Amino acid sequence: MKIRVLGFYGGESLECRMTCLLVNDRVALDAGSLSQALPISDQVKIHSIVLTHSHMDHTNSLPFFIENVYGKSDGAIRIFSSPATVYAIRKHLFNNATWPDFTRLPNHLLPAMEFHELADEVPFELGGVTFTPIPVDHLVPTHGFLIEDEDSAILWSSDTGPTSRLWEIANQTRNLKAIFVETSFDNALQHIADVSYHLTPQTLSEELQKLEKRLPIYLHHLKPPCIAKIQEEVAALGNRDIGYLEQGRTYEF
Ligand SMILES: [Zn+2]
Ligand SMILES: [Zn+2]
Repeated sequence: MKIRVLGFYGGESLECRMTCLLVNDRVALDAGSLSQALPISDQVKIHSIVLTHSHMDHTNSLPFFIENVYGKSDGAIRIFSSPATVYAIRKHLFNNATWPDFTRLPNHLLPAMEFHELADEVPFELGGVTFTPIPVDHLVPTHGFLIEDEDSAILWSSDTGPTSRLWEIANQTRNLKAIFVETSFDNALQHIADVSYHLTPQTLSEELQKLEKRLPIYLHHLKPPCIAKIQEEVAALGNRDIGYLEQGRTYEF
């Protein structure tokens, strides 16, 4: 499968785009930078968006993406996420105050977007790729995803503090090729990481003790002000399996 990194960061600045992956050109995983990272001619190819949770660094571009592809896509854009995320997005984003409710535009029978609710660990298929939502530990209900096709599997952990089920799935999945894990703050901000349910290099190191095999570990979701310190502290861990996703790069698994 082909994974393109549109946005890598857990915050935004001049060169830092927020969390957003493209799976086989047609499915987006999170929407932190969908409208900023792609020309509209590529945005209209996307038919489905899988959301890990409701926070803005993962949903920020949804209103502008929907507007860009309005009337150009083949049927409604399908948004897949937990019931809690659907509720939050309907109530706080597409509420006609923050942005129009595109589930009722142009009309409720033929809407521009529609929501599909996910259940924990119940797989669903989009364009030949199977996604399995795995609950992780964050401030709001959040899923990581096991993403599989015929050849390989990867494990995408979105925002999370220390967690358990994700690592059990990692240990059980035979053809797992890589794991993607967040590291948001440097060690000096451990208290902020703890109360906001994120990882630092030191808690990342503890999390990796739960993994019973060696695999490439790709870090992502760095907060822009913390980048240099995180890189320094991760290098000091001396774990050669750890690397970073690269914004703009396409990976084949
Ligand atoms: Zn985030
Ligand atoms: Zn979050």
